[in-house]
Amino acid sequence: MGKPTGFIEFLRELPSELTPLDRLHNWDEFHLPMPEDKLRNQAARCMDCGTPFCHTGTLISGMASGCPINNLIPEWNDLIYRGLWREALDRLHKTNNFPEFTGRVCPAPCEGSCVLGIHNPPVTIKNIECSIIDKGWESGWITANPPAIRTGKKVAVIGSGPAGLAAADQLNKAGHWVTVYERADRPGGLLMYGIPNMKLDKEEVVLRRLQMLEQEGVKMVCNTEVGKDISAQDLLNEYDAVVICTGATKPRDLNIEGRQLKGIHFAMEFLTANTKALLDGQPGEDFISAAGKDVVIIGGGDTGTDCVGTSLRHNCRSVTQLEIMPQPPRERAADNPWPEWPKIYRLDYGQEEAAARFGDDPRVYTTTATKFEGDSEGNVTGIHTVRVEWQRNEKGQFIPQPVAGTEKFVPTQLVLLAMGFLGPEQPLLDDLGLEKDARSNIKAEHGQFATSLPKVFAAGDCRRGQSLVVWAINEGRGAARECDRFLMGATDLP
Ligand code: FAD
Repeated sequence: MGKPTGFIEFLRELPSELTPLDRLHNWDEFHLPMPEDKLRNQAARCMDCGTPFCHTGTLISGMASGCPINNLIPEWNDLIYRGLWREALDRLHKTNNFPEFTGRVCPAPCEGSCVLGIHNPPVTIKNIECSIIDKGWESGWITANPPAIRTGKKVAVIGSGPAGLAAADQLNKAGHWVTVYERADRPGGLLMYGIPNMKLDKEEVVLRRLQMLEQEGVKMVCNTEVGKDISAQDLLNEYDAVVICTGATKPRDLNIEGRQLKGIHFAMEFLTANTKALLDGQPGEDFISAAGKDVVIIGGGDTGTDCVGTSLRHNCRSVTQLEIMPQPPRERAADNPWPEWPKIYRLDYGQEEAAARFGDDPRVYTTTATKFEGDSEGNVTGIHTVRVEWQRNEKGQFIPQPVAGTEKFVPTQLVLLAMGFLGPEQPLLDDLGLEKDARSNIKAEHGQFATSLPKVFAAGDCRRGQSLVVWAINEGRGAARECDRFLMGATDLP
């Protein structure tokens, strides 16, 4: 909706940011707020296209696109154009429990499916979402709203990432008593200990929402690993239903010669200890410093990018990011009318900062590590790498093949493995005797979220595999709806 001629009158404009070099001095978020008149113009670009793929979702080149939680994007764009901020906030909260998280970290598949994007740069949906929720908090419009009636039913949620929090919020709204168990010392899952502070501020943004959930009646129990500190069976006995949202926390390893050397860590060890040091005001024993080191990050996704940004803020001497995938394709697929949705190839904030600091994109494509080298004290000193070519094997699968003569040696004192995740940790699943899918995720159909055990539901990365915050919210909301239906025989939850 918006202004009928807005898309002709106004160009796409994003908020300004601190320069990449300026933002390396601290851990603060670096997007600057956009004045309301400019936001109004941006919302006016939404063109009443009639078939808003941004919020309905569709398949493009076989990939799900559009907003996974069906945000009512054209409606709130129109409200912002008309200056009705509070109404826009209400529309936003109808589909999204935590717009302040998605408004900051979502890769915005909605923008990749914006119909305006066929001819022009798409509407700045993500920034408008973030501005609506930020204004809602600043204006004091978001206040604790505990349910008027309690059902007397008790639900345990295991894991406090976005899936667990969305499930808890929805179940609490439905009137159930919800307790969230979290093994870390702070709730939030990867929102707290994963995504770094400069992308998502912990105290001002994440804690603010966690406190609101607690004020509304959700109980958070931290430092408690289900299966270790409390048995899963006890939870089943004590609660009317259990929702498992334990994430996909098993990292992919790189089992090459020298892997045992000191100075080679999983990315999550580095990122978690860093955020904890920031929040505790001092580094803990497990803190890993990149200061003064030549850092090599293996893996080119979001996690790798966060390691780049974090290493730069430690003041590393250099940073290299190895990426086994080929360089970005220049052409979009024939059945894809939209511009390529930028995925791992986009120049993200970390690479932008590295380029400003050292003069070059730190990513080295189609390259893999073959061996780690160390000194006599067992510290890593370098990595042998080789370029690969992707060739089809006899089954037609693409396999990376080393290219002779492209071997290199990269000196390093800190290696961070950011090669993705292999699904949920298995002991809890095995303890409960839960059925798993072929990738060892918890088996539960999307839309139903019921596991093979009665009264046990599963949502988020532990069910769908490593994914996105917005999908975790989608799943947490869906699991809550099905859990409520199970508890009450019917449900009003969306
Ligand atoms: P998680 O957020 O992983 O939460 C699971 C929680 O369960 C954890 O806190 C864990 O400690 C807890 N837990 C596990 N087992 C137990 C147990 N037995 N007892 C008690 N607690 C337990 N997505 C985006 O959309 N945008 C981004 O920019 C982005 N950046 C990312 C950066 C990094 C470094 C990583 C690793 C991921 C990123 N993602 C991003 C992905 C996104 O964070 C995840 O898809 C999302 O957090 C999954 O939510 P979840 O609730 O399923 O699991």
